[in-house]
Amino acid sequence: MNYATIKNCDIANGPGVRVSLFVSGCTHRCPGCFNEVAWDFGYGEPFTEETIEIILNMLRPAYIQGLTLLGGEPFEPQNQGAVVALLRRIKQELPEKSIWAFSGYLFDRDILSGRLGDTSEYLSYLDVLVDGPFVEAKKNLSLRFRGSENQRLIDVKASLASNSIVLWEDWQGEKKGLK
Ligand code: SF4
Repeated sequence: MNYATIKNCDIANGPGVRVSLFVSGCTHRCPGCFNEVAWDFGYGEPFTEETIEIILNMLRPAYIQGLTLLGGEPFEPQNQGAVVALLRRIKQELPEKSIWAFSGYLFDRDILSGRLGDTSEYLSYLDVLVDGPFVEAKKNLSLRFRGSENQRLIDVKASLASNSIVLWEDWQGEKKGLK
């Protein structure tokens, strides 16, 4: 896998201050994509063991709430191995850090169905998945952590436990005017 960028102080892609990894390679080709250069799987730098160490060190400060995976497409089958290796290390060494991922694939139709391979270990490390492609006709700049209205903020652990799609509760509270 290659990656396009690592941000060590991101406040736009999940709660709190986060480290963000933008992986390279995406086959969705959404019109209006915010990061078209990262469609190419060869774009950017090779993701190596050294990159994992850099990310772990960025995550160590107490003020960093967690890691967010973006792209490109972190769920492309050819990207999954490197991402899972990273998440495994994070959960071993920094289990308190939350993990968010943005994917153009749908949680139920594409990921749980097995269409993208066995994602069970990958999903076991995720807290929130923002799923679905960016749809320009549904673009809404007022949405929190999403670009278009079709995208869902899914509580992965609660969804797996209940065998249904459970939306991230903070977002639900916000929708109901509770937050
Ligand atoms: S899934 Fe994301 S990175 Fe891929 S084309 Fe759509 S907006 Fe761009």
